Amino acid sequence: MMNRNGMVTKIRTRIRTDPFKNTYDLVGRELGRGKFAVVKKCVEKTTGKEHAAKFLRKRRKGQDCRSDILNEIAVLESAETSPYVVALHEVYETTTEIILVLECAAGGEIFNQCVADNDEAFTEKDVIRLARQILMGVACLHQNNVVHLDLKPQNILLTSAQPLGDIRIVDFGLSRRVDRVTEVREILGTPEYVAPEILDYEPISTATDMWSIGVLTYVMLTGESPFLGEEKQETFLNISQVNVDYSQDVFQGISDLAVDFIQSLLLKNPRKRATVEQCLNHPWLRVDPHHHAVDEQEASQSESEPESPIPSPELVVIPSY
Ligand code: ADP
Ligand code: MG
Repeated sequence: MMNRNGMVTKIRTRIRTDPFKNTYDLVGRELGRGKFAVVKKCVEKTTGKEHAAKFLRKRRKGQDCRSDILNEIAVLESAETSPYVVALHEVYETTTEIILVLECAAGGEIFNQCVADNDEAFTEKDVIRLARQILMGVACLHQNNVVHLDLKPQNILLTSAQPLGDIRIVDFGLSRRVDRVTEVREILGTPEYVAPEILDYEPISTATDMWSIGVLTYVMLTGESPFLGEEKQETFLNISQVNVDYSQDVFQGISDLAVDFIQSLLLKNPRKRATVEQCLNHPWLRVDPHHHAVDEQEASQSESEPESPIPSPELVVIPSY
């Protein structure tokens, strides 16, 4: 079931109304928060398993937002086969809140490493692996005609930060079905990551997410936000003019293939942007069966042998900021 603005509200998960605290203990401080949600770590009493509980208020600014939350749940259900989309374990409802019990992504937001100093920042090799995983997660959504519409470093989490783990995509609060007319006026994501068609109130499509993946990849590789201006208006102008700096200054030590990949996404016309499948087949990311075997050999060697004090130059990427 889907209403006019692309929200899906029919869910499979049984909503529990018994007290959340009978089954879970809250532990530690909060994992994060957004505009209307607080996320806290919790432990399932019977299993000792850690989860992340997302507490969503049903009333926001005097409006009933229960259907928005059901939409978020429905989207999580539709992508449950992807390991790169956070898993939904259970749902609770109280008079004021709905609580989503999610798989805990203990490594936190990739945001932290995007803005980190050189020694903690991602290498190009890291970004290649993470970008593949983000694309595989988004492919699962797009195959189901769902667009995320809020892909940004705060909504891409890691299973562990050190050693660098795997991606988990979270926050489907703005997600919509795209097989019908979609009203975009009310759904503005974070300015820095939104595509030009959103600013122009044009129809959204899966290509809207692809723009955000272009911005995300740029940030992961360079540590710089490509469109961010001094003020919101300047950011919007940079986006609508596709004013991007691809100079050696910013991309020092980063491969030409990476730049080509980003350029295939940061195109004003949504129809010209690469699709998720085309991205996974781009030479920058394509898994070469031969090279893959070498990669695995390298990985097992580095586990059994002490780390070489001099890393080989082709593996070292020096981000420039
Ligand atoms: P909002 O819709 O309010 O932005 P999010 O779903 O993005 O809510 O959650 C807010 C923050 O909480 C995230 O940016 C992240 O830091 C943290 N968070 C969300 N889900 C998880 C999770 N499953 N595991 C660990 N941290 C999480
Ligand atoms: Mg969020």
